[in-house]
Amino acid sequence: MKVLVAGGAGYIGSHCVRQLLAAGHEPVVLDNFVYGHRAALPTGVKLHEASLSDPAALDRIFAAERIDVVMHFAAYAYVGESVTDPLKYYQNNFAATLTLLEAMLKHGVKKFVFSSTCATYGVPEKMPMTENLPQAPINPYGQTKLDVENMLKAFAHAYGLSFAAFRYFNAAGAAEDGAIGEDHNPETHLIPLAIWAAMGTGNPLKVFGTDYPTPDGTCLRDYVHVDDLSRAHIAVFDKLAAPGTQLFYNLGTGNPTSVLDVIKAVEKVSGLKVPATFAPRRAGDPPALYADASKAKRELNWTPKFQTIEPIIETAWRWHKARPKGYAK
Ligand code: UDP
Repeated sequence: MKVLVAGGAGYIGSHCVRQLLAAGHEPVVLDNFVYGHRAALPTGVKLHEASLSDPAALDRIFAAERIDVVMHFAAYAYVGESVTDPLKYYQNNFAATLTLLEAMLKHGVKKFVFSSTCATYGVPEKMPMTENLPQAPINPYGQTKLDVENMLKAFAHAYGLSFAAFRYFNAAGAAEDGAIGEDHNPETHLIPLAIWAAMGTGNPLKVFGTDYPTPDGTCLRDYVHVDDLSRAHIAVFDKLAAPGTQLFYNLGTGNPTSVLDVIKAVEKVSGLKVPATFAPRRAGDPPALYADASKAKRELNWTPKFQTIEPIIETAWRWHKARPKGYAK
């Protein structure tokens, strides 16, 4: 398949580009490098440097390439920022996706793989989380992703678009060879911050909330390896043949892991202490989020290779140890 990877220089997109190459597909990257990294792209991969909000650029790209499938990773993902600057999120995560879909339809490209999120569920009423739980996001980030899901349903019905929306739990880890990994600026995610705290290159870790109704009082999340996420995106290709197909999958390991579990795993893997302080709860954090991913297993034969937190952190540790400041500028 010739696959346009929007956001292919970002964290999850760049891992997917490598997995596509390994599986014998032909990725074509589209990125504007607002958050993406040139160094995350394999040598020789076809690149279009453009914005998804630029219909003329999209027109040129779809006219020049015979794209079979579009994968869309190009979103902003800072939950807190989405609350203070929702316009940015509706513009980039919703309106730019609309522009992309419009260009696809114009050029007859009708297969779409979308990065959605467990944040579309809001504060779920039951655990583990299945795909049929009510979706009630509690921040504009989750809302823009849900709005896109709903737009996709309407487009599937009206225009025969076939799509899969993957609702990610907590993407984590790095390529097993340590060549690419997670590098956000600013960084807000637990695992890189815990690793930097251990290495002494970052501040002591703040544990946000120790009074949650969970076994150790800290939040439970479902950390899923970025290469496992990528594999699901490729496994779904076969399911998108029939026009109007609509697919939704939760992607997680199903293992609830607490903030303290993550700290312990970083300490075990690194042999270093993670300096940490207890801090108040972070606004908008649900106490627990973990997946029932049995639908992806059943329908896509998707079983995460990385089932537990330690091996995931081993890959992250290898990446951060080799590049304590992320990608070279
Ligand atoms: N967390 C924390 N300290 C930090 C960053 C995150 O205690 O400096 C907690 C956060 O409250 C959540 C979990 O770690 O319970 C995972 O947060 P992250 O930002 O990595 O991902 P999210 O679950 O928000 O997508």
